[in-house]
Amino acid sequence: MDEEVTKVPADIETICCDGGQDGLGHPAVYYTFGSTNKIVCSYCGKIYERDQE
Ligand SMILES: [Zn+2]
Repeated sequence: MDEEVTKVPADIETICCDGGQDGLGHPAVYYTFGSTNKIVCSYCGKIYERDQE
């Protein structure tokens, strides 16, 4: 399985993951970046990375 990194704009504080469209769907969960710029979904392992300036 690909370790796909989803880039999100730097001004985004909260993201929602529901497993995407590849059959790994899971209940929608929300993650807040806070002091980190990288979030790994604990359900599906999808990686979200916030753009940095
Ligand atoms: Zn997920």
